Amino acid sequence: MPELPEVETVRLGLSQYLTGSIIRAVEILDQRSLKRHLAGPKDFVKTLADATVLGVVRRGKFLWLPLRFARADVVTHALVGHLGMSGQMLIRDHGAEPDKLTRVILYVESATGDQLEFRFVDQRIFGSLQIDNLVETEDGHPGGFSAGIGVGEVWQNLIPASAAHIARDPLDEHFDQAVVASRIVAKNSGIKRVLLDQGVLSGIGNIYADEALWQAKLHFDTPGSALTRRKVIELIEVSKSILERAVAAGGTSFDEQYKNVNGESGYFEVSLNAYGQTGKPCNRCGAEIRRENWMNRGSHFCPKCQKLKH
Ligand SMILES: [Zn+2]
Repeated sequence: MPELPEVETVRLGLSQYLTGSIIRAVEILDQRSLKRHLAGPKDFVKTLADATVLGVVRRGKFLWLPLRFARADVVTHALVGHLGMSGQMLIRDHGAEPDKLTRVILYVESATGDQLEFRFVDQRIFGSLQIDNLVETEDGHPGGFSAGIGVGEVWQNLIPASAAHIARDPLDEHFDQAVVASRIVAKNSGIKRVLLDQGVLSGIGNIYADEALWQAKLHFDTPGSALTRRKVIELIEVSKSILERAVAAGGTSFDEQYKNVNGESGYFEVSLNAYGQTGKPCNRCGAEIRRENWMNRGSHFCPKCQKLKH
């Protein structure tokens, strides 16, 4: 499942090709990929016709493309992409070899006049595309990260309604560490569960949670309320630096499904200390890394340096 660094790689690739592009036509090959677009496939096709893509924005693992509709003065909607477990967003030249399991194709004319195809490929159909209306952010700051595109534009301080409940991620320049630390120490649930709670902070999934907890020497089930504020701030800072390193490396090569917008995979390498390291010696103390079943997934940890506290 893609996490923030993988989604950022996709965002960057899409932004390069799609910023300033115009959607000329839409082809729907599998309606199930529009399940979140409640107005239906016909509305989806009609609404996107001749819309201009203003940029590509990300908050946590959430990705959206603000749109300017033909003949409209104000920006009111965005195309929201959910990658789900196996979704991919690929950019191809018009007429390029088909990609297996393509569900939706947007035919676009790029800002430089190239005819391109944005292909939404999804094996398991947990992902989707939807057009959502934009609302103002609660704090009046930009909705998410767009790498400087859209500065000063009204749409920058908007966020899709369906994402408005998602907290800022640690890489967001308006992420408020003090506020997030207070939220974490107020929680009685296990710290990993809190880290994965997108209403507390976003962008941390199973892999980077295991890595951050290993780095901070915390057991995944230790309650947030059992931690000192100082320890929580350390954990947030560690999480941030792990995400930063993974973004710099372009994501982690953990999943065959994950590909960048050119369809390349397998060349990213981020060294992991806990996730997927079951049975290997801990890089800090040499004890064997263990995996325990946790909320239908797994948690990887060192039983010696990550002891449970109550
Ligand atoms: Zn250890």
